[in-house]
Amino acid sequence: MSLKNQYLQHVYDQVCRRDPDQKEFHQAVYEVLQSFEPIIRKSPELFENGLLERLVEPERGIQFRVAWVDDKGVTHVNRGFRFQFNSAIGPYKGGIRFHPSVNASIIKFLGFEQIFKNSLTGLPMGGGKGGSDFDPKGKSDGEIMRFCQAFMTELYRHIGADLDVPAGDIGVGAREIGYMFGQYKRIRNEFTGVLTGKGITFGGSLVRAQATGYGLCYFTQEALAVMKNESFEGKITVISGAGNVAIYAAEKAMQLGAKVVAMSDSSGYIYDPDGIKLDIIKQIKEVERARISRYVNLVPGSEYHEGSKKIWQTPCKIALPCATQNEIDAEAAKALLNNGVIAVCEGANMPCTPEAVEAFIAAGIIFSPGKASNAGGVATSGLEMCQNSGRYCWTAREVDEKLRMIMINIFHNSYNASKEYGMEGNLVAGANIAGFLKVASAMRAQGIY
Ligand code: NDP
Repeated sequence: MSLKNQYLQHVYDQVCRRDPDQKEFHQAVYEVLQSFEPIIRKSPELFENGLLERLVEPERGIQFRVAWVDDKGVTHVNRGFRFQFNSAIGPYKGGIRFHPSVNASIIKFLGFEQIFKNSLTGLPMGGGKGGSDFDPKGKSDGEIMRFCQAFMTELYRHIGADLDVPAGDIGVGAREIGYMFGQYKRIRNEFTGVLTGKGITFGGSLVRAQATGYGLCYFTQEALAVMKNESFEGKITVISGAGNVAIYAAEKAMQLGAKVVAMSDSSGYIYDPDGIKLDIIKQIKEVERARISRYVNLVPGSEYHEGSKKIWQTPCKIALPCATQNEIDAEAAKALLNNGVIAVCEGANMPCTPEAVEAFIAAGIIFSPGKASNAGGVATSGLEMCQNSGRYCWTAREVDEKLRMIMINIFHNSYNASKEYGMEGNLVAGANIAGFLKVASAMRAQGIY
């Protein structure tokens, strides 16, 4: 991959040289640096004093051993990570992911993206991310609890309500956050807002569970209206994943008038021409914790297809990838475009490969990067932090309205930046630029560190 600007290329080369195996991190850095070419021309002073070299290097990275005992008494060892990337505009903030694919590259890509995403929300939050290669699939509740406790037994020394506030991500929902919060509280003997995504009875915010999915739809709705004079109303929509983000994206898209016809998990996807019955998906995924293929046993006329990537062959006007990174490649992008898609808005982090993103932008459809359109989760985490430090409990309506306004603002800030820097409608560049300007200004004001 090569960048037009020599300085940007030099920074990128250095990142690749330092950690040659961290492909996902390289991809995320490349995508961001690409957007900076017009800023370098317009405001070169922003890049003085090695600002970019500092931005691409985490302020701190922690790797640790997590040893735990399963139900049969067997000891297992997993690896834990927390990358505290940038604290220029606030305490580090970002989720924790439990998935066997987790490694330093994935956590660094997510932590790096988080810097710009958090900045875009307008709230005072720096960027960080953590996780473990622990696989929660098939584990008993007791095993999940013991793993979460073991994970927090090391992590607690590195986090705090004014230092670093983790949240959930893939494999980490309200149950895991509850176990980790309990362990932190016991060790530190203090009840503080050190994690977000907590249960409602102990400091969680209403609407946090729905926030990423709802926020994605508020963003998409605004983009459709402003850029295409369109809406969700009557649009066939495909949503990948069947986890936290996907389920609530489907719920809000349906409320806004869309017909959601396909959803997936990592094994395959379901197609329901009459529109997905979300109560059944919730029952399968949230209560039974079963595979999505079970849907066809419960809903006559629906289909199950093995292989999750094929979901993108389904004709649709709106595509919301909400599962995982690099799930839409060039081939999937081509199928979506051939079938007349008008908007692809990312609910997951980096679900589209660079080739897919290029194809969407070249085709002139709406394409929004996760760091803009999935920022509703962390934004509501920010609202949870506000409520925790003030000991407030806002109503669902209050939180939802604040979330909606934040997402509308993120869209406009990204769109306006794309116009101001000569790339109208390129929301990738717009989001990177708008997120960067605030962080760069704070880093410059705080001196070299
Ligand atoms: P969950 O663990 O709740 O759900 C993930 C879903 O994606 C599961 O249904 C999983 O299926 C499916 N999945 C995983 N890998 C694949 C694959 N290769 N193909 C198809 N489906 C797959 O995670 P979340 O919903 O929380 O997170 C989803 C994405 O959104 C991630 O990229 C995350 O970083 C991002 N995100 C999440 C936020 C949040 O608030 N939760 C905030 C911002 C971004 P299976 O059960 O088979 O593994």
